[in-house]
Amino acid sequence: MMQKRIYLCLAHMSGKEQQFIQEAFDTNWVVPLGPNVNGFEDDLKRFVGQNKEVVALSAGTAAIHLALIACGVQAGDEVICQSFTFCASANPVAYVGATPVFVDSEKDSWNMDPALLEQAIVDRKAKTGKYPKAIIPVALYGMPYNIDAIMTIADKYGITVIEDAAEGFGSKWKGQVLGTFGEFGILSFNGNKMITTSGGGALICKDTETKNKIMWLATQAREAYSYYQHEAIGYNYRLSNICAGIGRGQMTIIDEHLAHHKHIAKMYADAFKDVPGISFHSNPSENHDSNYWLCTILLDEDLHVRGEDDTYKEAVHGAVGGAAGVVHSGGTIHTDCEPNRNVEAMRIQLDKAGIESRPLWKPMHKQPVFKGVPAYINGTAESLFKRGLCLPSGPMVTDEDVSYIIQNIKDNLIH
Ligand SMILES: *Cc1c(COP(=O)(O)O)cnc(C)c1O
Repeated sequence: MMQKRIYLCLAHMSGKEQQFIQEAFDTNWVVPLGPNVNGFEDDLKRFVGQNKEVVALSAGTAAIHLALIACGVQAGDEVICQSFTFCASANPVAYVGATPVFVDSEKDSWNMDPALLEQAIVDRKAKTGKYPKAIIPVALYGMPYNIDAIMTIADKYGITVIEDAAEGFGSKWKGQVLGTFGEFGILSFNGNKMITTSGGGALICKDTETKNKIMWLATQAREAYSYYQHEAIGYNYRLSNICAGIGRGQMTIIDEHLAHHKHIAKMYADAFKDVPGISFHSNPSENHDSNYWLCTILLDEDLHVRGEDDTYKEAVHGAVGGAAGVVHSGGTIHTDCEPNRNVEAMRIQLDKAGIESRPLWKPMHKQPVFKGVPAYINGTAESLFKRGLCLPSGPMVTDEDVSYIIQNIKDNLIH
């Protein structure tokens, strides 16, 4: 019998997506603008609230890029990034020729440590004579950052905050949706995020004037003439009307998705309460309301897992899990910073049982591509990376799947 495979976060369709797409074809709106784009933006605007405006774009990465440009970030500037993140929150800083400055995480939320953030700001000013231009906190795996503390520090030094809520769509801090606190908020609708448009993103901004500026930049920065006249460098970053149709369909089930992710998280949290050596990452306070985009656990260093002596014997070929695109084959078996043996052994055992899991994101200050970049480190992100695993969490994961995953994890422990 073919074994069923359980993935980290597969997309789940409402059934309405195809109607919106069909309408786009029927009315000949097969372009990067149109009724679905406007309708999707209206849905998002209603969802995030706080009188914000939303621009639908071709990717979350594009949203960060345009936010940096709109904040006036230029070559030679510095931008504070969370080290514990996916590369897409730091790469656009390099696109504009600026330098990321990495800040490590606090232990409770796993996100940007406010105390270290302030140290970094003060130290950059002392070393370079300038303050960083922007701060990009990240809601990793959906968990809110301490936005109160971050905004207080940002305001004190007059620095703009761009919230990377790509993984935190629908997460809330003190009841307010992430992405609505800073000058800009980023959302992602990639295939594996909370909702999908197959690929896409959005920029949350404060008013229609800013929205118009972002839309202008996203559509090649054209001046108002009968012919093409350009006075600034533009981009082709608008969302297609077809993809936006998928987004409109997804917005009809966002509340169910959120409830489902939280339900799965509660099942894991309850189950791991009684397992020594394994801890589930839950909301650390009443202020935090994670969407639990991905559920994550930590394995104590001294926990023993079946097969751990045989890990790291062979180099990995291709991408682990469902990652899209082409990966370079690394060639080497080890890097200078990698998950502990017991974590890698657990990943392999789960994989054999048809369960996709993945190490936590490797901190940016440990990535060769960002070697030599300034970093303010307390060891938290590196320690989490070495001990952590992401578990299947998406709308396609059933209660039976979660029970099966928990049982498998328990069975792989050696006491
Ligand atoms: C996915 C992601 C992005 C980028 O979103 P795309 O839509 O894939 O371009 C940015 N930041 C974080 C933290 C992400 O996980």
